[in-house]
Amino acid sequence: MGRGSSLKDLYAFIEEYTGPAGGEVFKVLSKSTKELLDEDIVKKTGIDEQEVRRVLYELHNIGLVTYKKMRNPNDNRYIYYWRVDATRINHVLLKRKKAVLEKLKERLQYEESNSFFVCPVDGVRLTYDEALENDFRCPRCGSELVTDDNSETIEKLRKIISELEEEIKREEELIKHS
Ligand SMILES: [Zn+2]
Repeated sequence: MGRGSSLKDLYAFIEEYTGPAGGEVFKVLSKSTKELLDEDIVKKTGIDEQEVRRVLYELHNIGLVTYKKMRNPNDNRYIYYWRVDATRINHVLLKRKKAVLEKLKERLQYEESNSFFVCPVDGVRLTYDEALENDFRCPRCGSELVTDDNSETIEKLRKIISELEEEIKREEELIKHS
C-alpha cells in the first residue's frame, strides 16, 4: 500500500462516515493553501451551506479538520476559518491500517486452524466440520467435495500481513518524530 492507496482509503472512509459531500468538502480544504470560511467552501463545492456545515462538524468530530474562531468586526458574530489537520490525518490513517491488520490476522488464523473442502463445480467452500455435516457433498449442487489446499492463501496472507506491519512501524516512527 503506497501513498496513493492511503489517500483513496482516506476518501473512502470520509464518504462512508459523512456521505459524498464529505469527500468534496475535504478535497477543497486539502487543496487550499489557506484557511477557508464556510462560504468559501460553499462557493468552491456548490454544496448548500447547511450541508457544508454539517460535514465540517463531522470531519471535525473525527479530527480531520480544525478551525480558528474569530469575531466578525462588522456584526460581532463568530466566523470560522477551517483547515485540514495534517497530523491527525496520519493518526486516523494509521488507526485504519491497524484495524485492517487485525482483520487480516483473524483471517490468517481462520485459514491456519481449519482444513477446507471445495465444490469442483461451483466453488462453494466449506470447513471440514461443515463438509462433514453435508456428508462431503456440495450443499448447492450435490457434487462430491474435494479437499482445498489453502497453503497458497496462507502464504499470501502472511506476506501482506508482514508488509503491512512494516508499513505501520515505519509510519509510527514518522509520527513520533514529526
Ligand atoms: Zn456445488
